[in-house]
Amino acid sequence: MPKDEPATAASRGPRIGVFGGTFDPIHVGHLVTAVNVRHVLGLDRVLLVVANDPWQKQKADLPLTPALDRLAMVEAAVGDVVGLQASDVEIVSGGVSYTADTLVTLRHHHPAAELFLILGSDAAAGLPTWERVDEVRGLATLVVATRPGADDATPPAGWEHQAVEVPRLEVSSTDLRARFADGRPLDWLVSDAVVHVIRQRNLYAVHQMASPRSATS
Ligand code: ATP
Repeated sequence: MPKDEPATAASRGPRIGVFGGTFDPIHVGHLVTAVNVRHVLGLDRVLLVVANDPWQKQKADLPLTPALDRLAMVEAAVGDVVGLQASDVEIVSGGVSYTADTLVTLRHHHPAAELFLILGSDAAAGLPTWERVDEVRGLATLVVATRPGADDATPPAGWEHQAVEVPRLEVSSTDLRARFADGRPLDWLVSDAVVHVIRQRNLYAVHQMASPRSATS
């Protein structure tokens, strides 16, 4: 058993949330979802799994930020938040990132764990198109983060899943990339630690970016 498993693992396996994403970049909506799902379901921790090569976004017009840069942003965002952990499992595996493979690898690393696959409602809507989705359903409990008062998409009828309400934050990585490019404010949408990584690594046409709050105060 890995040394980071909690003491309670003797009575039951750890409950591990698996929250996958491109995280290009990671934003407050991702983090709010991860901490709230962890709290509501009593998970020991949530892994923020950085996609190496997300097949769903292969047709997107814009190039993807390199995986190691996206991982560095996730590590910075998670910082020392209790119960959240950046995961490079898909980067280490290499190639196209399929959730079924990721869950098999995590099951191998944590044989006693109960796995919970956390999905935003947009991801839940696309679930039926996923590669080897029946395998995914067999390896983890599906958890859909829904937004209060919203008519969110859920998995198809009959698919077992848990819905967890999380605060609605209308932020997306797509919008953030546009903000970086044209210099609109990023304050509170992305943590200062993430902005620091972006500046350090010169991501997202950062030369055009307005000074972040931390640099002006
Ligand atoms: P993009 O705009 O590039 O498509 P994104 O903001 O949707 O990116 P992803 O990395 O693709 O971010 O998403 C990872 C996971 O986070 C998915 O399950 C997605 O549904 C969820 N998610 C994305 N944005 C939010 C948000 N604002 N609140 C809660 N969950 C979100």
